[in-house]
Amino acid sequence: MKDDFIHKGKRRHLMQLMKEKGICDNAVLEAINKVPRHLFLDSSFMEHAYQNKAFPIGADQTISHPYTVAFQSELLQAQAGDKVLEIGTGSGYQCAVLLEMKLQVYTIERQNELFKKTSTLFRKLRYRPRKFVFGDGYLGLPDEAPFDGIIVTCGAPEIPQSLLGQLKIGGRLVIPVGQDEQIMTLIVRESETDYRKTTYGEFRFVPFLGGKQ
Ligand code: SAH
Repeated sequence: MKDDFIHKGKRRHLMQLMKEKGICDNAVLEAINKVPRHLFLDSSFMEHAYQNKAFPIGADQTISHPYTVAFQSELLQAQAGDKVLEIGTGSGYQCAVLLEMKLQVYTIERQNELFKKTSTLFRKLRYRPRKFVFGDGYLGLPDEAPFDGIIVTCGAPEIPQSLLGQLKIGGRLVIPVGQDEQIMTLIVRESETDYRKTTYGEFRFVPFLGGKQ
């Protein structure tokens, strides 16, 4: 799996673009500069991998725009070592970015085809999430909870209660909420019973679906 100076040069440009678009968390920028996004795409899209674009990854799903990945990662305000749950592993790119940020990552995918493909890729690229689960993200991972952060990478019609309960006090849930278009939403758990919500711009995601297949 080739990652040469041309890819590295393009990645530096992508990191620069993320900076220009307002991303300022250095751990996020460094991770964008490190993860070989072209290797997370089918070969027909590889040469476009460092543009700020989404691409199909199979099973009717898409890899998110790099800016979306950077924006969600920044909203987590994570520190190295934090325990983070990702819902919607897909290509594995967002997970790899979180791993380069030195987080302990738990990630769930509901589509078996993607789960298998991405498991193989993680092995090849030596990306090691704490757990990579084939399952339904609506349930979260109660056995591993609570988390410092939960990041949902598919469009949720509403905020699942199950995920709120799996946040630590002070923990952050980053979730795009809406049917056709989604509003990026940050929920911070302030106490056992209180949550604070902040909304950001509009994004477009594939849907957060129940069950697994
Ligand atoms: N983070 C991914 C984004 C992939 S698109 C990346 O970097 O490539 C969103 C993914 O969420 C899809 O793979 C889709 O199958 C998955 N998904 C949708 N509903 C889900 C659910 N209930 N549980 C787990 N994954 C889900």
